[in-house]
Amino acid sequence: MATRYTGLIDRYKNRLPVSDDTRVISIGEGNTPLIQLQNIPKIIGKEVDIYVKYEGLNPTGSFKDRGMTMAVTKAVEEGSQAIICASTGNTSASAAAYAVRAGIKAFVLIPEGKIALGKLAQTLMYGAEIIEINGNFDDGMSIVKEIADHAPVTIVNSINPFRIEGQKTAAFEIVDELGDAPDFHCLPVGNAGNITAYWKGYTEYATDQGALTAVATKRPVMCGYQAAGAAPFISGKMVDNPETIATAIRIGRPQSWDFAWAAQKESGGWFDCFADEKILEAHKMLSRYEGIFCEPASATSLAGALKDIASGKIPEGSKIVCTLTGNGLKDPDTAISQCKDAHPVTIDATLDAVKKAILDKM
Ligand SMILES: *Cc1c(COP(=O)(O)O)cnc(C)c1O
Repeated sequence: MATRYTGLIDRYKNRLPVSDDTRVISIGEGNTPLIQLQNIPKIIGKEVDIYVKYEGLNPTGSFKDRGMTMAVTKAVEEGSQAIICASTGNTSASAAAYAVRAGIKAFVLIPEGKIALGKLAQTLMYGAEIIEINGNFDDGMSIVKEIADHAPVTIVNSINPFRIEGQKTAAFEIVDELGDAPDFHCLPVGNAGNITAYWKGYTEYATDQGALTAVATKRPVMCGYQAAGAAPFISGKMVDNPETIATAIRIGRPQSWDFAWAAQKESGGWFDCFADEKILEAHKMLSRYEGIFCEPASATSLAGALKDIASGKIPEGSKIVCTLTGNGLKDPDTAISQCKDAHPVTIDATLDAVKKAILDKM
């Protein structure tokens, strides 16, 4: 029988707030690969199973699509004609695409000059109404939270509870594939919506005995990692001028503050932060040793896992999942600046010259 995959709402309908009459707005999001790392565990010399959940393979290249399919589906169901978000780039790209699919308008507030090139290109192509502000994500977010009282628009940032509902399905997919929850789950944390969503997903799978599919016997320890220049969960207070090369987590005032602390406490997990150089090191390791190209912010999850494996905080024998939140193609500028050691050769277009060039490098 044919079984065409039609998106995460269809797949997990019985666990999401939709009915048979709901018009589902989907671009085939979800069902992303869970890839076991083969070379990095050998390089670090530790007996650990590390899997990466490669969310960069969603339709617009980030996990935001999981939340957006739900948020836009519900916005349309409620009769909304327009959506709005503040964004460091990926939410705007995702909102723009799902608005097109639904036939409604998308307004996106982005920090001027701080959006990775690929994200800007997408958002322009999808035809969203782009509003650049002379401020950062947090400034945009505080405006968006007030705007609903002044204009007929639905907010699709992760303060929209349907975003969290859609995003929790990533945890479902992991349990479905591994047969149970992993021991540790590592995530980059910005606004903290995603760590909230994974914890909700794992919790539902561990406690919902009425489930038709596999039920997890446990929940993972949740490890949230931030960039040192944007680390409110490490300092314990909001940060006014967050700064990091990992623009997707350049956030100082996380909206899901209380939920993320609950996930940390209930799971026995922790938060930690890393200098940009450490994040970029993990970013490059994934490309060079595993053939997996993610965006800089995404690699924060691996940077954290590697540190905690090295210290023994994550013990040998553990099964670890790291979420790689977005695709490397989102931020070509940072990728290219990471490869200053690459020396492409320029030669004559002859067989001899190419042969020599190859033999020189063997
Ligand atoms: C949005 C985003 C994050 C941060 O997720 P939060 O839910 O805001 O914590 C991390 N990485 C990428 C690539 C993102 O787009």
